[in-house]
Amino acid sequence: MTMSAEGPRSTESLFDAEHPVVIAGAGPAGLTAAYELAKLGDSVLVFEADRVVGGISRTVERDGWRFDIGGHRFFTKVPQVEALWHEILPDEDFLLRPRQSRIFYDNKYYDYPLKASNALRNLGILEAILCVASYGRAKLFPPKDQTNYENWLVARFGWRLYRRFFETYTEKVWGVPVKEMPADWAAQRVKGLSLGNAIVNALKPKRKQTAITSLIEEFQYPKYGPGMMWEVCAEKVVALGGTIEFDQRVTKITATNGSLTSVTVRNRAGEEREVSTNHLISTMPMRQLVAALSPTPPKEILDAGEGLHYRDFLTVALVVPGQAAFTDNWIYIHSAEVKVGRIQNFGSWSPYMVKDGKTCLGLEYFVFEGDELWTATDEDLIEQATRELIHLGLVEPGRVERGFVVRVPKAYPYYDGDYKENVATIEQYLENNVAGVHLVGRNGMHKYNNQDHSMLTAMLTVENLHGASHDIWAVNVEEEYHEQAGRPTGAQGTGRDAPILPKRQTGN
Ligand SMILES: Cc1cc2nc3c(=O)[nH]c(=O)nc-3n(C[C@H](O)[C@H](O)[C@H](O)COP(=O)(O)OP(=O)(O)OC[C@H]3O[C@@H](n4cnc5c(N)ncnc54)[C@H](O)[C@@H]3O)c2cc1C
Repeated sequence: MTMSAEGPRSTESLFDAEHPVVIAGAGPAGLTAAYELAKLGDSVLVFEADRVVGGISRTVERDGWRFDIGGHRFFTKVPQVEALWHEILPDEDFLLRPRQSRIFYDNKYYDYPLKASNALRNLGILEAILCVASYGRAKLFPPKDQTNYENWLVARFGWRLYRRFFETYTEKVWGVPVKEMPADWAAQRVKGLSLGNAIVNALKPKRKQTAITSLIEEFQYPKYGPGMMWEVCAEKVVALGGTIEFDQRVTKITATNGSLTSVTVRNRAGEEREVSTNHLISTMPMRQLVAALSPTPPKEILDAGEGLHYRDFLTVALVVPGQAAFTDNWIYIHSAEVKVGRIQNFGSWSPYMVKDGKTCLGLEYFVFEGDELWTATDEDLIEQATRELIHLGLVEPGRVERGFVVRVPKAYPYYDGDYKENVATIEQYLENNVAGVHLVGRNGMHKYNNQDHSMLTAMLTVENLHGASHDIWAVNVEEEYHEQAGRPTGAQGTGRDAPILPKRQTGN
């Protein structure tokens, strides 16, 4: 036993092979929980629906090319997580990468974080004057109704800067017109606000400019991508006696007299198996978890589950000659005439990810599962991505050698006006009716957690199983995070900020 701030905590094994802790999902949160439990000598059984580890933080490998689902920076302010990363991978497997990113709009590259000289050069004197005039006009005559995000932004930056730096990218990421987004979220915190402030700051006379704390300039990155971390972690779990089973989707979670008694899994061939357990650490999407509960919960709980939505994501990785590509880690594409939202250059993330003097560019599309892009064939998506890359002038025609498509359902929990209440309703129901189910991670808690916070929820849950009493829901609420050191007062760190969005009527 050791003592923690929260009380006595057992460091002895509590769960044997007859009573393993079952874990749904072998992403960062699930594997972290498995590893921490296995180190304590507990019996763990991880069920992973997919055939690979890492979840959204996996590194995809296709014909020797390695690429991320979005580029995954390793940066944290949580010392336990930092220590765990370096416990899993030796220091020599980490690269320290400089951050280079730009915004592409109107055929110009804007340094990001913005630099005054670059912004002014790109805008040109006339446009810069018009932006300042539009900003001034908005200050004098702000839109009356500032309850929507568009007018809220316009009131602060003017129409011209809003159109250039906010409108298209926000709409690409969330798939919703900015004017339909309520502004109350923005009033609390706006990631884009730093961008807006930076622009306005850059346009002010030099003597009036204020120092803006810049975004992180470098980050850690495992040399073969984030998946490397989770591949090694999985090996460690198994070496410690844990079990990880692939192609096993948790489909039923059974409670008897208010407590968990078993979990049922199904493989792609439709074969089912029931495993007795009193503890399930779940990283599966909350919406799926509610639908898997047995006995079937009351209608209001099912409705709360159905009320949770997601934004999905797909990436088209294109192989091009190394010298034909840009040097940034990624570029934000604000241009409205293309659908791509962001482009990664994985060769800039790590030279170990690419080969033969070529690099791999990841064109990222933010989508809804089932929409036009999601259902397009791989061939059509590769053709579209190639066309857009050429249109943007990022590579010359004929330089794209081949492409791969990866679709990622439920990449982002969708925050609408009801999501918090839905999550709280489900959480309360589980506590009272399915004791022994522990929600962790990103989709597991329907929370916009990055890897570090996803992992921390898992680490604290393991401590709770051993007698501590951490409030898992408090993770990633109050901390200041890396994107902005100088947030507006009262801002909360959410890892990554996500706006509150209008309610979705249909779909996932
Ligand atoms: C585009 C993008 C960029 C990102 N960039 C960064 C970054 O730079 N840095 C960073 O730290 N984080 C980043 N993140 C966040 C990071 O990917 C997540 O925080 C992290 O992967 C969440 O871990 P998790 O284990 O909670 O969930 P997931 O990664 O979603 O893993 C869940 C696992 O559970 C499995 N599963 C689901 N349902 C079931 C079921 N019913 N039964 C069994 N298994 C199931 C899934 O197959 C998956 O393997 C990014 C995310 C996105 C979408």
